[in-house]
Amino acid sequence: MLLNSYKITRVLPCLADPEKIRVIAEISDEIHEAFPYLNATLKGCIYNHPALTLTIKKDGKLLTLHAHHITLAKIEDEKEAEEILGWLKDLINETYDKRDRIEPNFSKGEELKALDIFKLLPGTNCKKCGEPACLAFAVRLVGQEIDITKCIPLLSEQYQEKRKVLSELLHAAGFKITS
Ligand code: SF4
Repeated sequence: MLLNSYKITRVLPCLADPEKIRVIAEISDEIHEAFPYLNATLKGCIYNHPALTLTIKKDGKLLTLHAHHITLAKIEDEKEAEEILGWLKDLINETYDKRDRIEPNFSKGEELKALDIFKLLPGTNCKKCGEPACLAFAVRLVGQEIDITKCIPLLSEQYQEKRKVLSELLHAAGFKITS
């Protein structure tokens, strides 16, 4: 068994959807050895092999696996978080047990969508980035034509958590970002 246990350590508001929560769980064991096998067997993953992160999209939720912790976004409540973590634990262990029969996939997988980025921007269409609207900025950001720091409002304290989640998502997708 690769992953023995997990524990929810933080419950935060979900910035992509204010009606939902974001959950961080610490895990008992390093799980990154399972990532290329999960990337090979699941559809729609975003895999960053050098950074050891794998993002799984499941029923509109974003589940990001790191070597030492797991982040869940767009979650209804802690009960759902526990169910998803249980599902992930079984999935990680079952996939790792079968690794001899799976061709590992080290590619980045599905590309990040502009809409995924747009949901994490301030959404005020203030034009301070030089773009006519936040969606246009998201399109240019996903095309790596503009830097995240050009969105000045995102640097303010008000959007600190949004910026953190967006940076995490960009990092997981293998983007070079300025902190
Ligand atoms: S600066 Fe940020 S908030 Fe303003 S339009 Fe550009 S992306 Fe949207």
